[in-house]
Amino acid sequence: MTKPTAPWRLSILTVAIWLAVMAAFLAVSAKLARDSAGAEVEATARGLTRMIAQRVAQHDAHLTALVALVQAASPPPEAAIRQVGASILRFYPRITQIDLVDLHAAPGDGDARLLAMPREAAPPDLTLLRSPVLAQPPGEARAYVAAPGGYVLAKRAVPDPAALAILMRIDASRLVDAEEWPGWAEARLTIGERVIFAHRMTTAPLATEWLPRLKTEIAIDSASQPLRLVLERPQKLTELVGGGTLLAMLGLSVIGVFGVQLAAQRAAARAAERRARLSEHEARLAHASRVNAMGELASGLAHELTQPLTALLAQSQAGLRLAAAAPPDLALIAATMASNVREAKRADAILKRIRDYVSNTKPTRTRSGVNGIVKDVADLVAADLRVRNITLVLALAEDDPVVIVDRIELEQVLHNLVRNAADAVADAAPERRRIEVRTASEGRETVITVTDDGPGIPPDVLARLFEPFFTTKAEGMGLGLSLCESLIGRMEGRIAAANRPEGGARFTIGLPAAPRPAATLPEAAE
Ligand code: ADP
Repeated sequence: MTKPTAPWRLSILTVAIWLAVMAAFLAVSAKLARDSAGAEVEATARGLTRMIAQRVAQHDAHLTALVALVQAASPPPEAAIRQVGASILRFYPRITQIDLVDLHAAPGDGDARLLAMPREAAPPDLTLLRSPVLAQPPGEARAYVAAPGGYVLAKRAVPDPAALAILMRIDASRLVDAEEWPGWAEARLTIGERVIFAHRMTTAPLATEWLPRLKTEIAIDSASQPLRLVLERPQKLTELVGGGTLLAMLGLSVIGVFGVQLAAQRAAARAAERRARLSEHEARLAHASRVNAMGELASGLAHELTQPLTALLAQSQAGLRLAAAAPPDLALIAATMASNVREAKRADAILKRIRDYVSNTKPTRTRSGVNGIVKDVADLVAADLRVRNITLVLALAEDDPVVIVDRIELEQVLHNLVRNAADAVADAAPERRRIEVRTASEGRETVITVTDDGPGIPPDVLARLFEPFFTTKAEGMGLGLSLCESLIGRMEGRIAAANRPEGGARFTIGLPAAPRPAATLPEAAE
């Protein structure tokens, strides 16, 4: 029989499974949430990059237009350049200054600047720009990070050696309008290693800094102004694991745990009820089986009783004859009466055994010698076995082992085993119609074996032998061995069945040997 799982073990297992499922669900939903936030950062960065690329392309166009004007005449047409420059400054506020410079003028020479727009603008610092711009191929525009907050876009005019160049100062903070930056992200615009603009987050600062930030870095598509946009945002745990989801899961967990607990309790209660029903059923079966067995015993007992009754009748008739004689032989009459008393007592003992056997009385445990019990069973079955031409051999231990049992119960078990053995050998050849009952003391155990020379027990039957209602007999009830097992269990003993190598079956009963002396228990009345 499989052991039922303890309810607490069941609930721990269920809770563990539940927690694992919840953890997996949370992990998956957190991953999905992070992926979608990452995708949002990426999409925003792409949108911003496209916008910045368009704007830097405009710078190139304006610079090209101005340089074309410078090259148009010598000296350059100042009025036209000023007009174009002024409109550029007006319509593109991120272009904060436009200068036309002579790169050959000596450093610190005020004449280096030929034109300044707006007029009041501070002169550009050419000390750093002069040589790189001179080295710049004519016709190509390049950006230089000369001052914080922006950059200067420079392009030389041809032909040389005039060495004229237009410098256009760009305010990086206006490349993207303040409201165009997402409030939830930090952004940086860089050229090379230098940060030319940094945007701070405007939404409430996100506390959970230990979660890795979501970050995207994209290069702006421009040959002259190699800007990079870096967009990043921290992530809150609550974003990954939404409060609603968490609460719902916790709620469900609690309901689930209580549900399982309740189910386990109900299952335990049902199992207890089933056990109670089974043991009641078992008690009823035991009684039914005894009553049933009584029918079989009746024929044997009737035979047993005929013997003492016939003896009683014959001896009483002889006594009557002796009494009628003159003078009556009183000694002989007394001997006849004594013999009558013995026969009457024997008949009484047989009847008492029937009474005890069929009454559903509680077991009365006494110290009993197993040999005596075996002999009683042998007496009970003797007539039946004789009729069926079956030999019963008793091999009883010399020390007559003592056990503490209800005699009737043990007799019932042995009677069942002998009856099964008789059924097993019934169809065998006459020399194999043999049953042996052996008793022995083996350490602390008293062992009784019932062996037969029948066909043995097939393996599939052996596995189910002690199951209630399992029978291979047309008329069988399949209760005998199951009852034997429960009775022996009640005696704290064991019962096992096996096939003998030489053929036939062997049933072995092991009972705890009675400790001696056992002063508290009454001796069995033999
Ligand atoms: P029943 O005798 O009513 O069938 P039991 O529980 O006493 O019920 O026995 C169950 C089955 O075990 C029997 O039907 C028989 O197949 C098998 N069995 C019991 N004893 C023996 C034996 N000595 N030899 C072979 N088979 C046996």
